[in-house]
Amino acid sequence: MERKVRVRFAPSPTGALHIGGVRTALYNYLFAKQHGGEFIFRIEDTDSQRFVPGAEEYILETFQWLGIPFNEGVSFGGNYGPYRQSERKDIYKNYVKQLLDNGKAYIAFDTPEQLDAKRAEIPNFQYDASTRLQMTNSLTLSKEEVENRIAAGEQYVVRIKIEPNEEITVHDLIRGDVNVNSSILDDKVLYKSADELPTYHLANIVDDNLMKISHVIRGEEWLPSAPLHVLLYRAFGWEDTMPQFAHLSLLLKPDGNGKLSKRDGDRLGFPVFPLEWRDPKTGDISSGYRESGYLPEAVINFLALLGWNPGNNQEVMSLDELVELFNIEKCSKSGAKFDYEKGKYFNHLYLQKKSDAELAKIVQAKLDELNIIANSEKVEMAVAAMKERATFTNDLWDLCAFFFVAPTTFNEKDVQKRWKTDTSTLLSDLLSKLETMDSFDDAEKTEEEVKTWCETKGYGLGSVMNPFRLTLVGEMKGPQMFLITKILGKDEVVKRLKYALITING
Ligand code: GLU
Repeated sequence: MERKVRVRFAPSPTGALHIGGVRTALYNYLFAKQHGGEFIFRIEDTDSQRFVPGAEEYILETFQWLGIPFNEGVSFGGNYGPYRQSERKDIYKNYVKQLLDNGKAYIAFDTPEQLDAKRAEIPNFQYDASTRLQMTNSLTLSKEEVENRIAAGEQYVVRIKIEPNEEITVHDLIRGDVNVNSSILDDKVLYKSADELPTYHLANIVDDNLMKISHVIRGEEWLPSAPLHVLLYRAFGWEDTMPQFAHLSLLLKPDGNGKLSKRDGDRLGFPVFPLEWRDPKTGDISSGYRESGYLPEAVINFLALLGWNPGNNQEVMSLDELVELFNIEKCSKSGAKFDYEKGKYFNHLYLQKKSDAELAKIVQAKLDELNIIANSEKVEMAVAAMKERATFTNDLWDLCAFFFVAPTTFNEKDVQKRWKTDTSTLLSDLLSKLETMDSFDDAEKTEEEVKTWCETKGYGLGSVMNPFRLTLVGEMKGPQMFLITKILGKDEVVKRLKYALITING
């Protein structure tokens, strides 16, 4: 019988979630969704030294913003909890005991000093079949001695006992079969008595098994651990329920080689975190996609294509389409260059898909913040006129601001270029003309009337329109002139024109 698809995203709460982690979660979600499966949120916090407060909340907020829901897990509940590893101490202890009882693991008392001494003595020292009998552990000490040491409160670790020279095959959905000889692995620590917690490897395997995880889709950096995980499944006798693995390729620097880092983002000017993050220790702020004006849909589309594509030229895909088209087996084995410009391109595209009314809300929020009262119809018109030029939601206010905040100064270069000796006369004349006109609501009509007026007066169109724009906008930018006059309305146009005539003429 086919197993029910259950996948998990299992971050360690060690700080802001890297954008590569967001992609991992997204692929898990797409895979779960397309198989009618479940997507679980587990927190792997057994390493208390690396725990960072706020990280878990940050991760949850990220997926809320992106609109990627979990079915089960920390903060969502479910039948396989608790989903935070630090709350599962007792569960792990039983499994550690099981391995010890079966002789698949052993207790070791070597102190850091003793380990250092061994490392100095033996080149490339590895704690394994070739060295373990020289060490202080339950394989070399009598049962009684081990018990006495523990009773005396001596700290110990539990190590997996890896048999040398065994072939281990990791079946990876992306990479095919990855073969490893067990002799290259060391007897990894699975449990530490000092904090009564398992290490990552044990907790990860136990939880995947207990939570009935069918597929482990995760970052490439975990590939070296996969053979050890296979051995742990064998040690527990869980081969039949071992999940299928898929190790995703790395996200690479946009330029050059190597893994994408936060420094690349700082250097090239893009966020590597989904949301803004304030480091609780240093207070340093790192920028986020959300705060930089990205739309979640664009981030999702962009990330989905880093390391996977649908095999045709289709690039723009909604989350639903991605669910349908995604294919884990077609994910790339080699690293995906982080093409930030592509991210911007997607954002521009998705921004254009939004209705004017929706985008107007963003501008309206800024108006509210600044206590500027504006007619909502005008806000929508302004957005409609300007959105084509916006890449980020944050651009919208910058682009539309001049409709709601009259210029108080005028771009010097533009003034020099456009304000000729006769400009004041022409514009004063235009002002008188405008004051006699009806409303500017019909842009075409206003245009026709002003143009005819210019012709009759023998005024060159450019010598009137260019400085006119300058008076209304403050610089030589903006959409069609009579769209501007329409949105501003007659009173405002007249006011701005008068102000400019006084100010520019000095
Ligand atoms: N806790 C691991 C991490 O932080 C998860 C690795 C896995 O998915 O097995 O990346």
